[in-house]
Amino acid sequence: MKKNIAIIFGGKSGEHEVSLSSASSIYNHIDKEKYNVYTIGITKEGNWLYYEGSCENIKNGKWVELANKDAKINLIPTQGEKIGISLSNGVFHEIDIIFPVLHGPYGEDGSIQGLFEISNIPYVGCGVLSSSVGMDKIICKKIFKEMGLSQVKFEYVTRYEFVKNVQDSINNIERNINYPMFVKPANLGSSVGISKAKNKDELILAINEALRYDYRVIIEEGINAREIEVSVLGNEDVSASIVGEIIPAKEFYDYEAKYINASSKLLIPAPIDDDIIKKVQDMAIKAFKGIDGCGLARVDFFIDKDTTEIYINEINTMPGFTNISMYPKLWEASGIEYKDLIDKLITLAVEKFEQKK
Ligand code: ATP
Ligand code: MG
Ligand code: MG
Ligand code: MG
Repeated sequence: MKKNIAIIFGGKSGEHEVSLSSASSIYNHIDKEKYNVYTIGITKEGNWLYYEGSCENIKNGKWVELANKDAKINLIPTQGEKIGISLSNGVFHEIDIIFPVLHGPYGEDGSIQGLFEISNIPYVGCGVLSSSVGMDKIICKKIFKEMGLSQVKFEYVTRYEFVKNVQDSINNIERNINYPMFVKPANLGSSVGISKAKNKDELILAINEALRYDYRVIIEEGINAREIEVSVLGNEDVSASIVGEIIPAKEFYDYEAKYINASSKLLIPAPIDDDIIKKVQDMAIKAFKGIDGCGLARVDFFIDKDTTEIYINEINTMPGFTNISMYPKLWEASGIEYKDLIDKLITLAVEKFEQKK
């Protein structure tokens, strides 16, 4: 029997547009013989809307206007109702599995995963714990450190501490980390709110910029690095893909270099030695298991150009997922087609759900 899948896209985070691209690509390629697909969008304001229509209109944002505003989305079962979408004409679409194609806060940070747990419905990807730990760069780095995964030096500051005493905060950072520094909101992605600071004035500006997106900010020592990424897939039995490299079109891989400037390059496979590939794959699986990941993640690394030291940068529990994004491209190069990858993730979601019962 065909399963009913709800793809949820959009969301309140700074990665709303990236989610629209990922979701429209998944909607376009998912096996329609196997699945009835329903699409639910979340506006930038956080309003949930049921949308029936083309993937082009998901990508270009027209879905908000075109959504079926009378439909009700039932995720909290009351009085024995089922999880699903009720239309004003009395039709009810029951939902069996959810694919949250959401990046950044509320979508990739455990918030919505908590809702699905309450709804008692299988969902694709990491659970509450791994999502929230993976999204929070400060907590995640502390856990990676405890696991012995090598990473760049870092400090962090809250808005409260920073505003209370800017000079003290700067002194503390400068005492422990060398310029250039990378300043990031603790919880976000797609490089939103990230700046490179080469001196004290730039550091203050960079912290203020990151504080626009989060009340906690991480400051990392910047290294002259090659950027390496690995895809992982699985629940208990986790596999790592072929390793890829990014050649950013700009000084670093910022939002523009990721999505706007077409001259950033993805090298698949990365032209690196086999022993480094093996190390990076092992580290990726270790990081994923260490945060109790399930389903999928893309793990990002740096290789220091001067010392060849490998550093883990971060783990993304819902990485960019268009058919030309790094996560699916790495699996394609490892022998799993985009369409089959979607199918595999849905199977893993159901297996995880059964396992937790
Ligand atoms: P995404 O989730 O889209 O992968 P993100 O917003 O979580 O990105 P990071 O991956 O942490 O952000 O950093 C974005 C980019 O900034 C990196 O790909 C790299 O180009 C640069 N960068 C970040 N930290 C450092 C660092 N410590 N040294 C050198 N470059 C860095
Ligand atoms: Mg990230
Ligand atoms: Mg991300
Ligand atoms: Mg990254």
